[in-house]
Amino acid sequence: MMEFTYDWKPEDYPDEPILKITKSSLGSHQWCPKKYDFNYRERLPQDTTEAMTKGTIIHNAREDFFNSYDMKKAEDMGLQELIDYNYSLYPIDDYTDVYYAMACFDANRLMDAREADKVDEYMPVLNEVKLDAEFHIRARAFDHVELKQNYTVHLQGIIDRLFFSDGGYIPMELKTGAWGKHKATSMRKEMAFYKLLFDEATDEHLIEQGIDPQYEMTHWGWYFPVSNHIQVEKVKKISENAMLKSLATLIHSYETNVFEAKYNERTCASCSYFSICPAADMAGWV
Ligand code: SF4
Repeated sequence: MMEFTYDWKPEDYPDEPILKITKSSLGSHQWCPKKYDFNYRERLPQDTTEAMTKGTIIHNAREDFFNSYDMKKAEDMGLQELIDYNYSLYPIDDYTDVYYAMACFDANRLMDAREADKVDEYMPVLNEVKLDAEFHIRARAFDHVELKQNYTVHLQGIIDRLFFSDGGYIPMELKTGAWGKHKATSMRKEMAFYKLLFDEATDEHLIEQGIDPQYEMTHWGWYFPVSNHIQVEKVKKISENAMLKSLATLIHSYETNVFEAKYNERTCASCSYFSICPAADMAGWV
């Protein structure tokens, strides 16, 4: 594979390193290109927020939960026993309410799996799996922006959990904030990034990571335990296309060296770069 970086110079292409794109970097550029510039190109440190700390701790706890799960032990337990067992696998810290919600959720999920005779699909086939792929993007594949040339970019991502059901893979994303219907579009674009990563990874790499390349990613889903919300749906072409458009927009920013500030009075105040952002500075004069 070619070397990759966020400090990419399209004028040097096709020399290495090529552009690195992750789900987070793509999402950050979409949120505010200037914030992306500060964070990924200039590598300016971000403040660690309470939401970030919470996200890291709960993600680690859920990863450990599946790593230590003893299916043999859980096999004959009733609902309450399962809840207690699941809960015992989580740590005791500031997020026990979230762990209890997940313990109940998984206990019910196992009961349902037993009833449907699908216990073998209860556990994820992979727990936190990192994928890398190179993706060839065509200059004239988009009508919102025309790129100067075709490019190969490097995609990288970690899928929280990968399940296998009815002959297809299903990535499940864990989110530790509250669910709201307005988040569906961005969730679909995030999942579409994983689909692209999965589709573009070489068979050799997929096998190395424990994935059988003869099966496709047929569905995707997300879980917001704080709101007791789970959604699993068939992959959507429209979301895959929307994500590809964002990818082209990101490349175009590098080509033009324009990373515009998307100032928003409500959300910018909590941005780590508020004090150095020219758009925030200008807004103060209005
Ligand atoms: S303060 Fe607002 S406009 Fe400026 S970088 Fe942050 S998010 Fe973007």
